[in-house]
Amino acid sequence: MEVTFFSSKVYDRQFFEAENKRLKHRLTFLEAPLNERTAVMAGGAEAVCIFVNDLASAQVLQQLATGGTRLVALRCAGFNNVNLKAASDLGLKVVRVPAYSPYAVAEHTVALILTLNRKTHRAYNRVREDNFALTGLMGFDLHGRTVGLIGLGKIGLVTARILKGFGCQVLGYDVRESEEAKAIGVNYTSLDELYQQSDIISLHCPLTPQTYHLINEASITRMKEGVMLINTSRGAIINAKAVIKGLKSGKIKYLGLDVYEEEADLFFEDLSDKVIQDDVFMRLLSFNNVLITGHQAFFTTDAMQSIAQTTLQNITDFEQGKVLANQILP
Ligand code: NAD
Repeated sequence: MEVTFFSSKVYDRQFFEAENKRLKHRLTFLEAPLNERTAVMAGGAEAVCIFVNDLASAQVLQQLATGGTRLVALRCAGFNNVNLKAASDLGLKVVRVPAYSPYAVAEHTVALILTLNRKTHRAYNRVREDNFALTGLMGFDLHGRTVGLIGLGKIGLVTARILKGFGCQVLGYDVRESEEAKAIGVNYTSLDELYQQSDIISLHCPLTPQTYHLINEASITRMKEGVMLINTSRGAIINAKAVIKGLKSGKIKYLGLDVYEEEADLFFEDLSDKVIQDDVFMRLLSFNNVLITGHQAFFTTDAMQSIAQTTLQNITDFEQGKVLANQILP
């Protein structure tokens, strides 16, 4: 099948071309993100392959369908950027990669926790400047601390297992309780209890109308003084302005983000010779107890291989008229 990739990078091409050797789809890699201005660049391809910050709004989907596209293949798990109802009305099928490596994201989550706690980001710079003073670098034992995980699906569960290994108490909040999580010792609580008892709170739920700005002024007020907040899920689950207020008052003592609500204008690009216009983002960057990575939690060779494999299999299944195991319905 003809497949046009939006927002593609050198590494996408590398993993998809390797995997495509046996499947022989005709792949076109575009660097442009998908939006109202670029949808026309799909060039009549039957399938488009998109990523987290591509915009598949009703208008974009209409343009794609008019051009002859019949399949939207997400090369990621989250699908908050696709108007599923519009896709369905237009007869477009939407598929995704529901699970590629929960380990990649969970391990990155723990990397953020450990770095913020033991301040290795600051120590690295100090030591390179021959400054071996320890003032300001004190951390705490993770052992015995309480971690609250919001969302205990695939990634939340792996995160829970790792943290249990550190000797943490793990609290969980989810709209569905999982026996697997209970079996590894996750204690389900109400959201309120999780806010009140957790030293560290980490978000692993999807972005939905229910989770939009779940972390806001009111929820931050209910958290422990000096809480560590981690978000490797989707940016808009957090209200960044409320979090800045929490950081300024000291209520939030550490913040680790791999995602940011307005990341589409920033992440995955080298903007080092540009002036960043987002003042909220720049304020976040100004705190030395805030650690931001640019949506890289998924970025391991294992995950990339798995993403390429599942995405191309989804496309092949569509081409062969098979049942689409990874189809997303409205
Ligand atoms: P999953 O579907 O396996 O798990 C999500 C869990 O969240 C489920 O248990 C679900 O019941 C729960 N949930 C849904 N609505 C909720 C709510 N209102 N409150 C609490 N819990 C709720 O998904 P996953 O594979 O674990 O991924 C979780 C999220 O991580 C994805 O939605 C995606 O946004 C994000 N993600 C980020 C990256 C990255 O690189 N940073 C990579 C992959 C996924």
